[in-house]
Amino acid sequence: MKHRITVHHTGNEQDMKYEVVEIFQSINGEGMKAGELAVFLRLKGCNLACRYCDTAWANVEDAEFREMDEEEIVHEVKRYKVKNVTVTGGEPLLRKGMRLLLTKLTEAGFFVEIETNGSVALQEFAGISPNLSFTMDYKLGGSGMEDKMDIRNFSFLTKKDTVKFVVSDNRDMERAYDVSKRFLSDGQCNLLISPVFGEIKLEEIVEFMKEHHWTQARMQLQMHKIIWDPEKQGV
Ligand code: SF4
Repeated sequence: MKHRITVHHTGNEQDMKYEVVEIFQSINGEGMKAGELAVFLRLKGCNLACRYCDTAWANVEDAEFREMDEEEIVHEVKRYKVKNVTVTGGEPLLRKGMRLLLTKLTEAGFFVEIETNGSVALQEFAGISPNLSFTMDYKLGGSGMEDKMDIRNFSFLTKKDTVKFVVSDNRDMERAYDVSKRFLSDGQCNLLISPVFGEIKLEEIVEFMKEHHWTQARMQLQMHKIIWDPEKQGV
């Protein structure tokens, strides 16, 4: 599928409209709340084009979306009566007005997890609420996007946050290890190693972790790709 950069926003903070491609309930397939129910809010558009992207359909110019303001989003999310909300994309933090939306969601009592791709500055969002956490990717060589990473973001991550390294091969494992040692202090935040589905052998990840005595890292498989067809949307 053709992958384009589509990042739109309208008006000022009081008059924001968000391009919502999906709102649905499922289990968190990954992250530190994996296995727990969550409402997923997927916004359209991404500034990167990772080689292994599994949501390119949500990023193309002609992806279908609903234009909703923050009150409508909070109202719809509340209908599910679930405490976790995962805000994802694409890259959700590129949207103007995200501070407002995230503030409204946390004020409504939700635990909000933002899935962000590592290229967008987190500083502006870091202090919004103790109920807001980041799951930040660090894109490795296998993605083709490592040069877009903003390494200043590491300094804004705390214990409630997570860095996720999506690894395609052993070189990515080496690099993930090196980056984590260089930019993160022990115990600063959670560390996930997530294999690109169907690429690197899972045993290789375990062997690497053993060899390097990498006790801070946690290997994680994307549950939703095991439970459902890996291409299925809305799960
Ligand atoms: S950052 Fe995420 S949504 Fe954007 S291209 Fe990469 S994998 Fe796809």
